[in-house]
Amino acid sequence: MKTSQLMLSTLREIPADAVIASHQLMLRAGLTRKLGNGLYSYMPLGLRSLRKVENIIREELDKAGLLEMKPTVVVPGELWKESGRWNTMGVEMLRAKNRGGQDIVISPTAEEAFTALVRDTLTSYKQYPVILYQINTKYRDEIRPRYGVMRGREFIMMDAYSFDIDQKSLDESYEKCAAAYRRIFKRMGLSTISVKADTGAMGGSGSEEFMVESEVGDDTLILCPKCDYAANVEKATCKSDVALDKDGNPQKATDLPYEEIDTPNVKTIDDLASFLKTTPQAFIKTLIYKVSNCGIELPGQKGEDKFVAVCIRGDLDVNEAKLCAILKASDVELACDEDVTRITDAPVGFAGPVKLTKAPVIADESISTMHDAVTGGLKKDVHFIHVEPGRDFTPFMSADVRTVKPGDKCPDCGAEFYTKKGNELGHIFKLGDKYTKSMNVTYLDENGKQQTPIMGCYGIGVDRTLASIIEEHHDENGIVWTMTTAPYQVAIVPVKYDGVMKESSDKLYDELTKAGIEVLLDDRNERPGVKFKDMDLIGIPVRIVVGEKNLPNVEVKMRNQTEANLVPLEEASSKVVQIVQEELAKLNA
Ligand code: ATP
Ligand code: MG
Repeated sequence: MKTSQLMLSTLREIPADAVIASHQLMLRAGLTRKLGNGLYSYMPLGLRSLRKVENIIREELDKAGLLEMKPTVVVPGELWKESGRWNTMGVEMLRAKNRGGQDIVISPTAEEAFTALVRDTLTSYKQYPVILYQINTKYRDEIRPRYGVMRGREFIMMDAYSFDIDQKSLDESYEKCAAAYRRIFKRMGLSTISVKADTGAMGGSGSEEFMVESEVGDDTLILCPKCDYAANVEKATCKSDVALDKDGNPQKATDLPYEEIDTPNVKTIDDLASFLKTTPQAFIKTLIYKVSNCGIELPGQKGEDKFVAVCIRGDLDVNEAKLCAILKASDVELACDEDVTRITDAPVGFAGPVKLTKAPVIADESISTMHDAVTGGLKKDVHFIHVEPGRDFTPFMSADVRTVKPGDKCPDCGAEFYTKKGNELGHIFKLGDKYTKSMNVTYLDENGKQQTPIMGCYGIGVDRTLASIIEEHHDENGIVWTMTTAPYQVAIVPVKYDGVMKESSDKLYDELTKAGIEVLLDDRNERPGVKFKDMDLIGIPVRIVVGEKNLPNVEVKMRNQTEANLVPLEEASSKVVQIVQEELAKLNA
């Protein structure tokens, strides 16, 4: 390819709304252009790298025995009504009506489509197991699309679905996908952190997220420096620690009855701690939460809006994702001031579990070693002291709802956690019979009996993966593509595309192209500095500079190195072929 024919359009300025490196560089290198909020188009150069990422995914999945297919992106709403997700998906799912008035969905994910296709295709146990996948467009009406293609509204996802007849077979399908994922990210030159989680539904480690470190990551990872414990903060647990008194000793039980004290104008835990000359660990913090679609029976909570009072040691924070999970709820949020006042009979700041009747108490496990504690007194400017959990209040439920922080201890080995921000590139998940049951998928087993298959689902965000490669591989001058994902592997830059420099460049171009190398020849009539800057920005891994004063030598430079080597023109193409092949072999190993 010659640059003059590529519609290359690089930008010197950093686009105003782009804050992360990959977003800035994709726009500056002319890989993508924005058509609308969360809607990015790939320009010819960008599409080449996107296709490479897709093809690495495709090759590894095919090798693992998965089958590619292509369901439609537009799916009948009926299927989503069958699975029950028509009502639960919320506004991220884009719905429309066709001219006949029928409901249609622009796929945000494709469990329904694949399940329906399998239902109509597989009838006997002999046809199982299968793992099907697509690399296809998704649409999610994200409330806040951001960071370019990292979180777009339209994006490409590889989504795979396994169908198995028993747990052992599902475990094998799952492991196949996990192994393929590891190879996929390695081949692209991405360092991923794998985060396992117990999904509850299927037992054991039923889910694994593949994350990349990122300063602007949406996920917080809790990591152990000693063992391989890695968890999303939403799920992370830590070794329980004993509540300490102000002298650093375990808190001791008291025989004194709890008692009201006046605490005028002290509201925060820190204010209280200095007022009572103690530490935040002496306090039971009580937070009133409003629960949406609670999946468990909550005593005394009859109306549409349900509430709980969550108690936790004063120095800790409640993890809303964990709370949501134990309540089997779709959402929890802190109650508004009005609801807090109604439930606690006091202004905000005086909630406590003693004598609280209008909301059931959920006690974090940290409460279990607390004694002689301080709580809100359910009256303005009043707190209780000498509170004994168990004696003075009985929780409706005790559970781990604590947010794990750096410095907390690993439950497996006891080392102190550290934390990193991350972005999820891929996810594998054992689903069980959630969709096959609701959508009535059956097969006949060896005895001619009808059975329900079980499923796993597996997703990789293709655009997000591409952007993450740039996040990991760039410098102040631009992108530094890995050899497997670069739009072109080699750039030939004649100082001037004329005379002997043109002849030499064309010769190299022909030789390299014949050897199967992807070459970009910068034939533009621009100053050399401009061409060098552009090639650095678009990040081609190998650059050959053909200048009159160096001939019969040419300059070969790797994008990720500062030093260039002079190589005789006659040897240049074989040398460069070797560099490219070695680099590919290293990544593809
Ligand atoms: P997130 O928590 O980031 O919203 P998710 O849990 O909604 O992700 P999945 O439903 O598991 O994501 O989708 C599989 C993959 O698709 C994700 O791991 C991610 O790489 C990608 N993905 C999801 N939403 C987007 C988006 N809006 N833009 C780009 N990629 C996305
Ligand atoms: Mg999402």
